Amino acid sequence: NPQQPDATTESVCGYCATGCSLKVHLKDSEAFNLSADANYPVNLGMACPKGWESLAPLKATDRATTPLLRDASGKLNPITWEEAMLEMITRFKSIKQRHGGRALSWLSTGQIPSEEMAFLGALCKFGMGMIHGDGNTRQCMATAVAAYKESFGFDAPPYTYQDFEESDVLVFVGSNLCITHPIMWQRVMRNRRNPEIIVLDPRRTETAMAATKHLPLRPKSDLALLYCFARLLVENDWLDNDFIQAHTEGFSELKEFLLNGPYDLATVAELSGLDQGAIFEVARMIGSGKRVSLWWTMGVNQSYEGTRVAQAIINLALLTGNIGKPGTGANSITGQCNAMGSRLFSNSTNLLGGHKFTLAKDRSKIAGILGIEEDCIPQEDSWAYDEILEGVERGEIKGLWIIATNTAHSWINQNRWNKLREQLDFMVVQDMYHTSETAQMADLVLPAAGWGEKEGTFINSERRIGRTRKVSRAPGQALADFHIFQLVAHYWGCGELFNRWNSPEAVFKILTEVSKGQPCDISGIKDYAMIESEGGIQWPLPEGTEAFDTQRRLFADGQFFYPSGRAKLIFEAPRKLPEATDVEYPFTLLTGRGSSSQWHTQTRTGKSDVLRKLYPAKSYIEINPKDAERLGIESESKVVISSRRGEITASAHLTPITPVGSIFAPMHYREVNQLTHSSFDPQSRQPNYKACAVQVCKA
Ligand code: SF4
Repeated sequence: NPQQPDATTESVCGYCATGCSLKVHLKDSEAFNLSADANYPVNLGMACPKGWESLAPLKATDRATTPLLRDASGKLNPITWEEAMLEMITRFKSIKQRHGGRALSWLSTGQIPSEEMAFLGALCKFGMGMIHGDGNTRQCMATAVAAYKESFGFDAPPYTYQDFEESDVLVFVGSNLCITHPIMWQRVMRNRRNPEIIVLDPRRTETAMAATKHLPLRPKSDLALLYCFARLLVENDWLDNDFIQAHTEGFSELKEFLLNGPYDLATVAELSGLDQGAIFEVARMIGSGKRVSLWWTMGVNQSYEGTRVAQAIINLALLTGNIGKPGTGANSITGQCNAMGSRLFSNSTNLLGGHKFTLAKDRSKIAGILGIEEDCIPQEDSWAYDEILEGVERGEIKGLWIIATNTAHSWINQNRWNKLREQLDFMVVQDMYHTSETAQMADLVLPAAGWGEKEGTFINSERRIGRTRKVSRAPGQALADFHIFQLVAHYWGCGELFNRWNSPEAVFKILTEVSKGQPCDISGIKDYAMIESEGGIQWPLPEGTEAFDTQRRLFADGQFFYPSGRAKLIFEAPRKLPEATDVEYPFTLLTGRGSSSQWHTQTRTGKSDVLRKLYPAKSYIEINPKDAERLGIESESKVVISSRRGEITASAHLTPITPVGSIFAPMHYREVNQLTHSSFDPQSRQPNYKACAVQVCKA
């Protein structure tokens, strides 16, 4: 039977941060099929279309199979690995010699294993002398990181997926879970407690349609609405006063802010366009004393004031004591398969293991564990993604290494940033495909293995470390990113620093050592075999932990990560939209995931015939039929959408899902970010993809 595998193995999916396990079917050690893993505690035998189609992108005809170097005429030509390394090192060293280590930088991803992220960050900072590097996790999770750090004292999502099934009230803020995290949604559907499902979203999304209550608030009135809920909790004493007193600080200041600010029911109902009764009812449910869990994702994170919105959600959980217990939590749902690995181990924003570059004792600890000189470790924080690109714009950064991310498509206000290419002396792109928009702009393309062609670990949304495995050989001369980093270290002349970093599992061991004593302590994980036998392991797991549950949440003891043990109630008055609508640009542009069958810039999912059939090939927008009628726009006709930054053409999909006065554009098409506005959350530096002003007219 040609469909009969001669072996199977399990590997965590390489798309979203749900972290489903896939059972990969092998013949002669090569993957030829897969199914969902029925025994893994995350997905319980389920997978979404992207997971089922995970093998298709590996067989694409446009895989990068050899290094490519651009010649004087602008053509990319195949070269050997040795030529590629000599070129990259010569060009980068020349830049460093002339301008210093600050003139080199890297941009990486939440899509590669923690071991590779850690190697890249250590190589760039400790080996090559760079200061600034960041990942595309800045586009998805930076806000949650900043919010948790300030509120809890560490970047610590508190929940386990079991909480979806054990809540009485689930509140989703800016999350279309049905589409963005379909297997998490299936966990909600398994909830047998007859829960209230409340969705706060301007659009009547698939999740909103399935909810028991949808609050279609006006775009970016979320912060005022959350403060209104908190004020109603205070006014009606729907509070867990014992919890507040024992485990939080800042309550009296928050109370004064809420009661003296414009967060009363009438004012917020007017601002948000919501019914007063509906707002009151949701506040009452949050303060009901039942098990309440609050969940958020990109509708919150990708905002100019995202950190404060996330903290307003965290405050609701703290005020009602909904944390550390089954079915509760202020829970950030992560985007990419290893965004949390990047948060803890990429050595970009934080020193390895959630340490601080600015603390001498942290630098000394890491230097001791790694056996390197302390002065190899920078004493300052890295610039964020947007600051790095501004560094390029100012001519301070001259050499850029981009790994497994498609900046030219995904970064906000694309037309501005794509001009930066001309500012760079040398740009290296390391990717599975030579055809991505970013690879097409490179001076040098390094061909990389993809998910399924290499080993390592990912950390999912609920802090679960899972194994991803090599089940297929990479084509041509493509190498695992891990091996490319080894090559770069060797040719740079700093290979000796990384003698211990000789395999992904050896690096994982190092990561367990650097984590020791941190909130994310995983020193109790002995090896990969332990992760595999346990069905993934949630952090923390300190050395000496003998027995542990497969579903664990944080803060069961009410102790947070500040020295006081208390969580902080943080607040700040809402700010104005960076770009409000006006007569010339009267529509608010909302962007987001358009389908469970597509992933980000379609670099991989666009390679699957099956996934392409599930999703329109050409760019489209959603517009409310009332707006369409007023503008004379017919269903599926072409429209021109323009902002102060650019103009695109797309098909018009008429749907009441999107409210009057807004349009929705999926992020999967390159055109969209020609329109978006360069504004950022000041705490997290996350881009504000969710609201800018545009004009729509017939093409
Ligand atoms: Fe699961 Fe996400 Fe992979 Fe889909 S993309 S199979 S939800 S991990």
